[in-house]
Amino acid sequence: MSANPVQAAGADITQLRELVRTCTACELHRGTNLAVPGEGPIPAEMMFIGEAPGYHEDQQGTPFIGASGQFLSELLAKIGLDRSLVYITNVVKHRPPSNRDPLPDEMAACRPYLDRQIELVNPKIIVTLGRFSMARWFPGGRISQIHGQPKIDGGRIIVPMYHPAAALHQAALKATIEADFLKLPRILAEMRQKLETEEASAQPKLEQSRLF
Ligand code: URA
Repeated sequence: MSANPVQAAGADITQLRELVRTCTACELHRGTNLAVPGEGPIPAEMMFIGEAPGYHEDQQGTPFIGASGQFLSELLAKIGLDRSLVYITNVVKHRPPSNRDPLPDEMAACRPYLDRQIELVNPKIIVTLGRFSMARWFPGGRISQIHGQPKIDGGRIIVPMYHPAAALHQAALKATIEADFLKLPRILAEMRQKLETEEASAQPKLEQSRLF
């Protein structure tokens, strides 16, 4: 295994992009055009994690720019968000051949990159798109049963959602994923409120401790 994923710990976002771009830690890089590290502001309140780059993403090195990316942008617009305001990435950073599912060893090889991205982006909300990103926080969970139901993990809210491509294949899921997206502004507002309350209650303790 190459040392690249190991070096991800402590990397800044520019170094991380370079590590991903030159990564040979699993077989996926063979036959691909460009790695797709992810894009968006650092930090960002919301982070979206998909599955893996597809054809268009591999051509341009940018996540979610094909048909499902177009739908993701529409979903974001419905809640008043431009995609430039959120961080978007995938579980694996190279396109699997013929868009097959990523394999466990490929996801494991890429994991240090995602871990470091989460640290750097430091989102209040992580939205998992599809079952591969969902599995990290909801092992054994079934997307049909838990989509749109948030949970708190490590001070962040994790919201499992269907992958936008699922709605493109099954028209009936379009309304479901739209309804789940419409919950996000309220979830974010509640999280901001919770963090503000926590900060406010931590403040007097800090001030008190300075007295002694
Ligand atoms: N599907 C994904 O999961 N990610 C992309 O970047 C594009 C399509």
